[in-house]
Amino acid sequence: MAATRKPTAPRKATKKAARPKAAVRPPARDDEVGALFKAARFQETTSDISRALGLRSFLGKKVGRWVLHAATPSPTEGHAVDLVLNGAHQPGGLEYGTKHRFVTVDALARDLAAALKDLQRLAKDDELLKCPECKLRYVIQKEGKRGTFLSCEGMTRIHRRVEGMRIKDVACRGTSTRIPAVVIHT
Ligand SMILES: [Zn+2]
Repeated sequence: MAATRKPTAPRKATKKAARPKAAVRPPARDDEVGALFKAARFQETTSDISRALGLRSFLGKKVGRWVLHAATPSPTEGHAVDLVLNGAHQPGGLEYGTKHRFVTVDALARDLAAALKDLQRLAKDDELLKCPECKLRYVIQKEGKRGTFLSCEGMTRIHRRVEGMRIKDVACRGTSTRIPAVVIHT
């Protein structure tokens, strides 16, 4: 009796049997953060080193010269996620305008859509992101004695020559209160 070989059934996408667990498994809630940003069409940009430290990073879509950037800080920092506009189109660098800080993963799940809408609005019409003083540069997140504020990105030390003398100065001292520096979602 010739055993006829049945044609192989089309490969079915079977659920993968439990993935081998990494040595350092992120906590379950961390997976939820990843899923929320994936659903919002962000791309994860976490490096291996960051992941080992419990930090994660996601880039969202570009809006004009801006890109949405989300980062989970170190677990010891006491909040879940920060979402802010970034001008560099890559993780890190300066953070422009309002930062949305989600204290819990539940707050992120609840308010992410509204926060994205807010930042996309700012990015589309970025007059509100401009420094009210020089009206040229944009305002960035700065930490001060009284907490976070928005300061002109020109507030960096420059060297200027006045009557032959080199003096230290800043390009612009503008700050902005036209938009909130931080919106906290609890
Ligand atoms: Zn300025």
